[in-house]
Amino acid sequence: MLVDSFKHKGLRRRLVEELAAMGIHDAAVLAAINAVPRHHFLSSAFLEYAYENKAFQIGAGQTISHPYTVAFQSQLLGLEKGMKVLEIGTGSGFQTSVLCEMGAKVFSIERHKQLHDGAKQLLRQMGYKATLSYGDGYKGMPGYAPFDRVLITCAVPVIPEELLMQLKPGGKLIMPFGDGEVQQMMVVEEKEDGSFESSFHGHFSFVPMLEKRTSIAK
Ligand code: SAH
Repeated sequence: MLVDSFKHKGLRRRLVEELAAMGIHDAAVLAAINAVPRHHFLSSAFLEYAYENKAFQIGAGQTISHPYTVAFQSQLLGLEKGMKVLEIGTGSGFQTSVLCEMGAKVFSIERHKQLHDGAKQLLRQMGYKATLSYGDGYKGMPGYAPFDRVLITCAVPVIPEELLMQLKPGGKLIMPFGDGEVQQMMVVEEKEDGSFESSFHGHFSFVPMLEKRTSIAK
């Protein structure tokens, strides 16, 4: 049974205040973080810390991103209700659920079978209706394209062209770009005339985007 107590709700409100103080100003993002019980996404060993601004291990050598990072990427998306968003790197499913709360139609890909299965079960239990796929994010989800937004939650060493092709004109791709420990948050916008414009938004640290799906922890 998933329990969301007054204590958890209180801690969450405090986290939202902290994120606002750190510069997150999109009211829809703050409301979504306030609504999603992040403690459901962590193993019970971390329950006490679920609402601190920290990243945690979620198995298979992967991490659930810092709440600030999730909020920052969500804010960069500039989402409107009903937009189609493709997420690469479902991981715990926390970012997925934040996007669902913001009214997006979410499609999310994960290359680790164990994480995909876990997120699928949890999101269903929590009542979120995202379309989750077990596969290689580099390929995107051509069957559901085009998307208004593509959000990559792992570090990409090269701009994945296949994903750019799945964007609508006027759409945006947001990704941590770089092959080192620290990457630049990059936004690539496809203009209505088909040209692309990019901008950079500070430094972050993500796990790398790797090719091919896997059922082995690595
Ligand atoms: N959005 C997640 C963050 C997870 S960390 C959350 O809120 O918890 C990044 C995730 O990207 C990891 O789970 C990793 O397995 C996944 N990943 C890495 N390369 C990938 C690829 N090519 N396709 C799909 N997922 C990938």
